[in-house]
Amino acid sequence: MSPIETLRRTIHLLPEHVANRIAAGEVAERPASVLKELIENSLDAGAGRIEIAVEAGGKGAIVVRDDGCGMARDDALLALRRHATSKIVRAEDLDAIQTLGFRGEALPSVASVSKLEIVTRPAESGTGTRITVEGGKIGDVGEAGAAVGTQVRVRDLFFNVPARRRFLRSAQAELRQCTDVVMRAALVNPEVAFTYLVDGRRRAHYDASEEFEARVTAVVGKALAAGMRSVHHSENGFTIRGMAGRPDTHRGSRSQQILFVNQRPVQHRALSGAIFALYRDHLKARQFPVYVLMIEVDPARIDVNIHPSKSEVRFREQAEATRAVRHAIAPLIRDVRATPRWGAVRRSEGADLGRSEQWELRLGADRPGGVAPPVFPSVRDRWSGEGPVLGAAGASDSPGGIAEQAAAMREEIAAELGVSHEPSPVDCAPEAPPGVASVWQYALTYIFTPLKGDLLIVDQHTAHERVLFERTMAAILEGDVPSQRVLFPIVIEPSPAEAEALETHRGDIARVGYELEEIEGRISLVGVPAVGRDSRAGQIFQALLGELAETGEAKMGGIERVAAGFACKAAVKAGDTLNEQEMGQLVNELFATEKPFFCPHGRPTVVRVPLGEIERRFGRI
Ligand code: ADP
Ligand code: MG
Repeated sequence: MSPIETLRRTIHLLPEHVANRIAAGEVAERPASVLKELIENSLDAGAGRIEIAVEAGGKGAIVVRDDGCGMARDDALLALRRHATSKIVRAEDLDAIQTLGFRGEALPSVASVSKLEIVTRPAESGTGTRITVEGGKIGDVGEAGAAVGTQVRVRDLFFNVPARRRFLRSAQAELRQCTDVVMRAALVNPEVAFTYLVDGRRRAHYDASEEFEARVTAVVGKALAAGMRSVHHSENGFTIRGMAGRPDTHRGSRSQQILFVNQRPVQHRALSGAIFALYRDHLKARQFPVYVLMIEVDPARIDVNIHPSKSEVRFREQAEATRAVRHAIAPLIRDVRATPRWGAVRRSEGADLGRSEQWELRLGADRPGGVAPPVFPSVRDRWSGEGPVLGAAGASDSPGGIAEQAAAMREEIAAELGVSHEPSPVDCAPEAPPGVASVWQYALTYIFTPLKGDLLIVDQHTAHERVLFERTMAAILEGDVPSQRVLFPIVIEPSPAEAEALETHRGDIARVGYELEEIEGRISLVGVPAVGRDSRAGQIFQALLGELAETGEAKMGGIERVAAGFACKAAVKAGDTLNEQEMGQLVNELFATEKPFFCPHGRPTVVRVPLGEIERRFGRI
């Protein structure tokens, strides 16, 4: 039975035993859960267009308007009673639920804790009905001019339950959850047009009849979607569709891991765990894969009635579901494995060194003759806790120590590299033939350079992050706005979550050096930080927004977070080729910073391998 057909039956009260079979749950938990129920009702009503407006994070008002089937007056009145639903008649129907709502308790629950207004008109009626309810008491019931469809307006949620109202979080936090709900609804319903207004301003609009993938791209934002690939796989009656990130595409939180089962957004630990396991080898700590996946399966093979907000689902055959999802994503990861990105190749031998996983260390160009190059154990693991360069976070806390170490290394490095703090091209011109240079790049990620006989290994990305971060912060503290006008405004296309981040951090984004203007209704970058000015300015800004939009717990606040995010996105990346001059300059600049040993996010920038350790390995001492 389609949702529409279901609705065409008249609304009736659920028999008592059916009501009892449904665990009583609180649907009106917070603005986002109210919004979710209202949107689901619109979808169940067969809407082709849904307009959503949220004010003050939904604490002020939530409005959902649709062009669905609408309700006759009596039906609308009945819909406000507990366990009134048009969607279930018999207990058996619970086993094959197709529509999103089925408890018949959303409208009455919401109406009992808010000031609610319904304006609705079914296609067969010339006029509409307007009903107001305050704290559960029906107020006005009357005629109203209205288009076919339904508009539900919920104001002052929990106005009569102060304890609950106090429990709500800031408007910003509640808004983020509302936006999440809208995003998820838009994702699974590409055939429905969505408009989303926040505090009177249009935050997102998605046209109808887009393909699922086009909708995913529109919702997650172009920047992220560019790193994702389509997924389509069927197995054992499970169909998995959607998009998943390539292994080198990840986020700092789980916010971009979206699963749907039969159109329903769900949380599913076992499935997300299985997906994470596939990506794990490609991720560092605090990196999470991204995916939007839709799983379709015969509704009789799942149980959705285990959680009041229906956000959990149980598969009757969990192992089969997991296997199907794994098979859907695995090819995407295999593709990358086949073509290693950098010069490092994982080896499984090397048992003589007592480690199961070793990395080949290729010095410079590939060696002819296939002679196995020397093998190092993971340098970072081995030396991160020793010597003058420490990988442990505790090191940064020892007062004086860092500054002294930095100063000492600064001098040593200047001597080794023969470059001053502002290297001139002449100083750095590679006189020596390749292979004898005093600074070289390994795996397009690490800068190797001798230091007092020891080996210094600098992570080019985290090092550059540190440099850009301190420069940006210094400029800000000195009261400069380190901005540079761009010749041609760069149009920004933020996703709804990114637009929110833009609002939240607007001041700090400006302090870092970004100037934004609205040009012909579109947000455009007209100035960018002078510090990191380069041809990727637009991409860098998009990436920064993407990071700020992540809901994961932020360890830093305000300006630091924005500056660190900017530094991270603007810094050279692993995989970027650097010439000797650039490498020499970067190492110098790193040691001119105040905290050279860690990037702003706390990752190490540099590891020093003592000569003695190398000699021990060669059996010299
Ligand atoms: P449920 O969705 O679980 O049936 P609700 O309390 O959310 O319960 O809604 C009760 C009934 O009101 C629905 O079954 C439906 O018939 C009607 N209804 C609610 N919202 C709409 C809408 N936007 N358009 C048409 N009918 C609606
Ligand atoms: Mg409902």
